[in-house]
Amino acid sequence: MPSPSSLEILRRLVGFDTTSRGSNLALIEFVEGYLGNLGVVSERVYDATGEKANLWATIGPADVPGIILSGHTDVVPVDGQEWQSDPFDLTERDGRLYGRGACDMKGFLACVLAAVPSALSRDLARPIHLAFSYDEEVGCIGVMRLLDALKARPNRPRYCIVGEPTSMEVVVGHKAKRSVRATVTGRACHSSLAPQGVNAVEYAALLIAKLRSIGARLASQGKRDETYDVPVTTAHTGKIAGGTALNIVPDRCRFEFEFRVMPGEDPDALVEEIISYARDTLEPEMRTIAPETGIAFEVFAAVPGIETAPDGELTHLVQRFAGSNGYAKVAYGTEAGRFKEMLGIETVICGPGRIAEAHRPDEYIEVAQLKRCDAFLASLIDWAALAR
Ligand SMILES: [Zn+2]
Repeated sequence: MPSPSSLEILRRLVGFDTTSRGSNLALIEFVEGYLGNLGVVSERVYDATGEKANLWATIGPADVPGIILSGHTDVVPVDGQEWQSDPFDLTERDGRLYGRGACDMKGFLACVLAAVPSALSRDLARPIHLAFSYDEEVGCIGVMRLLDALKARPNRPRYCIVGEPTSMEVVVGHKAKRSVRATVTGRACHSSLAPQGVNAVEYAALLIAKLRSIGARLASQGKRDETYDVPVTTAHTGKIAGGTALNIVPDRCRFEFEFRVMPGEDPDALVEEIISYARDTLEPEMRTIAPETGIAFEVFAAVPGIETAPDGELTHLVQRFAGSNGYAKVAYGTEAGRFKEMLGIETVICGPGRIAEAHRPDEYIEVAQLKRCDAFLASLIDWAALAR
């Protein structure tokens, strides 16, 4: 039986709805079965509930440091998005393959799986490890359990490639991220008596204006690196809810904001700056009217950044696989920082598809990008077979 192409495997992978809020086990079972049929043993590393799992598998000698091919299995929701075709049924139009996760990042997973038979047919001098994670889209959380499990083992892998969409360019750096939820508790009253209440929506607005001013300061005076697509640290508010009716002073407002932070700048200090503004300036003012009021903060995602040497060993190697001499740095976060932070593994990001297509309605990957990734992996397998 001929082995399936990356396109055929992608069709299967997209068919599993692996939105982060749900289980990814059906997909994991499919991958396990596929690898099992080829004689490759894989291992699950579960989350606390047992409803999601990472998958880890090794091809080649297990007692030599090898290279990890890493990708996440979860996808962002399609809720509220207008799609021209069923997001969980891969649809080809004009050389593009449409489907949720086609670009971010089941395309890479499909290419990796399609390359396994070829890797198995070679006498590998260095192992190729597959690390497929869950809960990446909600803060790169899932992979931490896998990395914890790997920590204790001998023969730690030497390199890691995270296959997030980079149009097959080599990405050596990305920013750190902090995602924060703020809950403003005010005091309600009839709006005609506004000064007797504490307007939670208005205090949220003051905090958001502060975030904007921090963003403006960082843009003009903060760390700058023109290699990045967005060369400065950014602050952004993405979600807000508060109030019930115009004639009621609202006693509750919640909003979520984030910092995407350049290497060399301290992400926690930025979060602290906002918290201090609330503690030292806003809360004392709120409490002159109502002592029960205040502002609570919760950091719900903290993704480390990464900076790999542009002239380092892995960068050169991956440039060779990709047939391209350049490198880039990007604003979006990935699991790459976790591999570096938790295991000290040299890591770069390189995968098929354009990040601009990710998370959108009618997300797609070009067939040509899958082919480039297939060629990239063929070259990687050559290296693993020849490497001494
Ligand atoms: Zn992704």
